[in-house]
Amino acid sequence: HPPQLTKQQNKQRYLEQYVAEIKEKRAAKDNADTSDLTIEQVEKEMKNSMRYEYYIHYLGIDRRNDRWVTEQFLKVDHEEIQRQEKTINKEEEEKKERHREQRDKSFLYNDENLGMNEKEVQDFLNSTKIKTVESIQFGKNWLETWYFTALPKEYHTKCLYICDFCLFFCVDKREFLRHSMKCEVRHPPGDEIYRDDAISFFEVNGSSEKTYCENLS
Ligand SMILES: [Zn+2]
Repeated sequence: HPPQLTKQQNKQRYLEQYVAEIKEKRAAKDNADTSDLTIEQVEKEMKNSMRYEYYIHYLGIDRRNDRWVTEQFLKVDHEEIQRQEKTINKEEEEKKERHREQRDKSFLYNDENLGMNEKEVQDFLNSTKIKTVESIQFGKNWLETWYFTALPKEYHTKCLYICDFCLFFCVDKREFLRHSMKCEVRHPPGDEIYRDDAISFFEVNGSSEKTYCENLS
């Protein structure tokens, strides 16, 4: 079984140093709403956006912990980079790479790719390398996502806002707040078939409640 970070380890991760591999680089930006800001503030924001963020994979740790981090959280190992540049023996380098991949791969088998063969897992890992949605706001709860989600490009975002009543979702916080104010849904569409204290089960008709069921999945 791949190791999973406990809550405590998750906290520690921000304090301790872990060996990670950089997978991707992008200009740092967020989907913050700038319409309330003054021109000076917007200019400052733009200056900030000149920074870079890096998508990193912690070596030997489940891929669900992969994330974008800003520069200040990275300590680049210049010696390691120099060592790698100096390595002219390609064969040796390939051997090292194979060994590393092998070690890494054993941690990459998990519940998201159960039942796939090795090639399928590799294809799957390549096509789902980077999380498309980094976190979600589900009603009042904010949580980080674990893996890649196959959503259209316009939903690739730092935070996807989801209404916990009707499952409407959007990338814009203002739109979400507007929705929350007018949404009158308070339970899933359909009949309540079981209730025990705080838990309720509902029977939802997939053909008449298409959008709800699609959003549920
Ligand atoms: Zn709603």
